[in-house]
Amino acid sequence: MSSPVLDPSACSGVSRRNFMRIAAATSALASMPIFTESRLAFAQRPHFADPNKGIHIDANENPLGPSEKARQAMLDIIPKGGRYEFPMQMELAEVFAKQEGLDPESVMPYAGSSEPLHYTVLAFTGPSKPLVIADPGYEAPMWAAKVSQAPVLKVPLADPKGAATHDVKAMLAASSTPGVIYICNPNNPTGTITSPEDIEYVVANAPKGTIVMIDEAYIHLSDVPSSLHFVKEGKDVVVLRTFSKLYGMAGIRMGFAVARPDILKKLEVFGGQNSLPITAIAAAKASLIDTELVPARKKLIGEIRTENLAWLKNEGYACTPSVSNCFMLDVKRPGGEVLAAMAKKEVYIGRIWPAWPTQVRITVGTRQEMATFQKTFKEVMASSTAGLKPEPLHQRLQATPFSHLS
Ligand code: PLP
Repeated sequence: MSSPVLDPSACSGVSRRNFMRIAAATSALASMPIFTESRLAFAQRPHFADPNKGIHIDANENPLGPSEKARQAMLDIIPKGGRYEFPMQMELAEVFAKQEGLDPESVMPYAGSSEPLHYTVLAFTGPSKPLVIADPGYEAPMWAAKVSQAPVLKVPLADPKGAATHDVKAMLAASSTPGVIYICNPNNPTGTITSPEDIEYVVANAPKGTIVMIDEAYIHLSDVPSSLHFVKEGKDVVVLRTFSKLYGMAGIRMGFAVARPDILKKLEVFGGQNSLPITAIAAAKASLIDTELVPARKKLIGEIRTENLAWLKNEGYACTPSVSNCFMLDVKRPGGEVLAAMAKKEVYIGRIWPAWPTQVRITVGTRQEMATFQKTFKEVMASSTAGLKPEPLHQRLQATPFSHLS
């Protein structure tokens, strides 16, 4: 499997063709932004609203923040902050690998999963190797595909008014030469799941050389079985994990790419070789070895989600059957109007996907935040929102490909 963007083996050659490929990739990389949920959500906040004011349920963050044990681990490591402590990074990969029965060589820590997500797209897609992605789905891989100049083939979710699952057969049929097939399980923004059988089907039937990128950012919030076993089986997959969601470390930054070592090597060309903050490593390790953390937070967030889905249903609104910390809510009018009206009242709700223009994404916040959401949503829906529009993007984001949001 060689990268259509930058083939590492090309570095040893000095042919003009190879030189041009490297130069093109380098200049593309120089301008490649890493698109994270935070940037995408931030892009629509009115003029960078004061983050200390209002209710922010627009970026799938975890308002609980890092666990007590993770906070203590960060405090404890501060005196060592003058050192690089690279072995800590290796130890973190080993702890995770042992828990999951993986070879530690298959686990690469990064500062969140956004980086390896982008690098996988850069490494394995290109003009003749499209990116296949569900719609609505998490958009970040599409921005990376702009850099690799790969066609983006959006495949609508199957059963949009019901299970809203990845349509794996349609995704496979979308291209005979896909570079990357992206599956987010549970899916952002719908919070819905794709069955293990369907994921197995994609992995088994993807053309040789295609990478199936399985994004498990939200997996801890659900009972969905993990796809890490494909890595153990030596398949052409990249599984992404992050500490940004259930573990509440979005601002601390830690994540993993899990894949065969030869696949991980192809991502290295694009970055991620820098030292990681030792505070983040310490917090991640403390979170991993805390056996009570995942079940306790999964239960709490699940209960708040269920209460809100029930409340919205009672009010006459349909939502996706989420098992995650976000869901799509059909407001039965242009989603942008409702988003703008809510923002005026300092309740910042999530984004809109062009494929589902009357739906808005809601992140599950604390009980208190959701009580304010419910009150404000009721007020907004009882009034006319006609003509309201989300505010223009902040000028710092206008240069980036956010046009579909404005
Ligand atoms: N993947 C999905 C589906 C996400 O929603 C996010 C963030 O919201 C990420 C990956 C990246 O998160 P991070 O870079 O914080 O790990």
